[in-house]
Amino acid sequence: MDLYEHQGKELLGRFGIPVSRGRLAFTPEEARRAAEELAGPVVVKAQVLTGGRGKAGGVKLAADPGEAEARARDILGLDIRGHVVGRLWIEAASDIAREYYLSVALDRGAGKALLMFTTEGGVEIEQVAAENPDALVRVHVDPLEGLEPHHVRELLDGVANMGERQQIEEIVETLYRWFVESDATLCEINPLIVTPEGVVRALDAKVTVDDSSLFRHPELAELRDTSAADPLEAFARERDVIYVKLDGSVGILGNGAGLSMSTVDVVVVAGGRPANFCDLGGGGSAAGVVAALEVIARDAQVRSILFNIFGGITRCDEVARGILEALDTIDLDVPIVVRLDGTNAEAGRLILADAGKPNLHVEPTMLAAARRAVDLAA
Ligand code: GDP
Ligand code: MN
Repeated sequence: MDLYEHQGKELLGRFGIPVSRGRLAFTPEEARRAAEELAGPVVVKAQVLTGGRGKAGGVKLAADPGEAEARARDILGLDIRGHVVGRLWIEAASDIAREYYLSVALDRGAGKALLMFTTEGGVEIEQVAAENPDALVRVHVDPLEGLEPHHVRELLDGVANMGERQQIEEIVETLYRWFVESDATLCEINPLIVTPEGVVRALDAKVTVDDSSLFRHPELAELRDTSAADPLEAFARERDVIYVKLDGSVGILGNGAGLSMSTVDVVVVAGGRPANFCDLGGGGSAAGVVAALEVIARDAQVRSILFNIFGGITRCDEVARGILEALDTIDLDVPIVVRLDGTNAEAGRLILADAGKPNLHVEPTMLAAARRAVDLAA
């Protein structure tokens, strides 16, 4: 789950990382009032779950409340790479002497946390990595060992000013602690600024928390903005269906992530384009099939549905009954192609054949089923 900048900064601020004072605003009038309360120049910042807002015109300075209202009017409704701005963060403006970059991320490959720091902050980190890789310091932290002073020393080797360095050391320690305690997978502060007075402050925060850990962080779970998510993906989540929207026309249902992904590939091999990726999971109960079909039926782009089931724990006769039950309960006018293999596959095929549904096609192999589904979607 990605957090908005203001959510990330509020959490980090409460934990002890210095951030600027700010207020949320959803209308230009609220932006004006926020600027009045903050008394002084402000920054009007688009709150969207994507980076590079500055370049896209989503971050603007305003000298007074009237200007804040005008900038808010410009930014609200702006489309930043597919994210329409509906909320703003109005923050007391900072004077900037230097911009640094600091992040901690989960490095799955290494099985460790990865701290990154560069004094060349402000721009996107990918750009620093490509153009000036030596300027980017990377330090791995073993989760069993924890953060040690030597990690921080190595990370901040390039910061000559001792006053600055001491502040950043504390920020690194706090950030790492928050990262571990919150089950985050990414905490990025870019820029981490130094003011002309030598004060270090986080001006931006990009935080991602591991979805699988939200059950033990109810205070984080409730930060999810359901209005920003794809409504269909939210509908799927409520039904415990793993659903990822793609942009083709063949709806895909498989059991297990591996088989579902292979099915996506086979549809492409057959000349089609998948409309989604939908994983029934290992159980594949009749109720699960109904839930998944309910989700797919709501996707207007779906022109045919390909069911690809390999019965292991999942029994194909159970899946077949689920399909028939779903057809009885929901209004589906797109054709369904089914490939069943594995446990009780023969019984499953018989159940489907006996039902005599004109919209239901059974194919013996994965490739044959994919070709049929692609034909039917054309
Ligand atoms: P991003 O573009 O989505 O990463 O948004 P940021 O929050 O990082 O803002 C983009 C840029 O706007 C920063 O790198 C700063 O250069 C600038 N900026 C943001 N806040 C302030 C501020 O308070 N004062 C000044 N002078 N510049 C700011
Ligand atoms: Mn930034």
